[in-house]
Amino acid sequence: MNYKINELFETIQGEGSFTGQPSIFIRLQGCPVGCSWCDTKHTWDIELDDQVSPDIMLAKKAETSQWANFSAEDILALVKEKHFKAKHIVITGGEPCMVDLTPLCETFEDLGYSTQIETSGTFEIITTEKCWVTVSPKIKMRGGYDILASAMSRANEIKHPVATEQNVDDLKELLAMHQVENTPVYLQPISQKKRATELAIATCIANNWRLSVQVHKYIGIE
Ligand code: SF4
Repeated sequence: MNYKINELFETIQGEGSFTGQPSIFIRLQGCPVGCSWCDTKHTWDIELDDQVSPDIMLAKKAETSQWANFSAEDILALVKEKHFKAKHIVITGGEPCMVDLTPLCETFEDLGYSTQIETSGTFEIITTEKCWVTVSPKIKMRGGYDILASAMSRANEIKHPVATEQNVDDLKELLAMHQVENTPVYLQPISQKKRATELAIATCIANNWRLSVQVHKYIGIE
């Protein structure tokens, strides 16, 4: 099967449990969830007019909605061709769980890579058992999608964007509804805003949750 890839690059994971880990990011095109503060809005729509060749997609110098088709084998060949050293694959979006991620994760896991998916929790997660699943639940967004119970139970970590007390209340309600007790919870201040950061720090301390500050944005990497 083919995957619609918007970006593919090597960097440092800046969020959650794998913070600091050299990683190969695979960004898939397409997301109907509609978060108002989304920082990858260029990945939302899948327009056939935006399909380009793999070479053009890889040469992009700016964030655009252009995407290219890659099979898992194509991605592996590219990773080898570029001599990427990272052994951790992060599949993000967009919303990557709109498609079956099993072939992609299997291809890399068979060669000793670890894999991770970052998902909004609004689509069934179809991947390998070994894959680390980060659910960043996008609650009450414009697209009208519910957070799935299956996503909450599959999550290896929950990473929640936070700007207001309401965001914290929504998360608590979600965790209670799905009886999430032992999964690590990260709070991530939205847009590095001071008020959001202070709220996240205080809430993490009060609930024994963890802080995720999007390190890559502070050190100026992708
Ligand atoms: S789920 Fe992610 S990609 Fe989709 S709109 Fe929300 S933040 Fe953006």
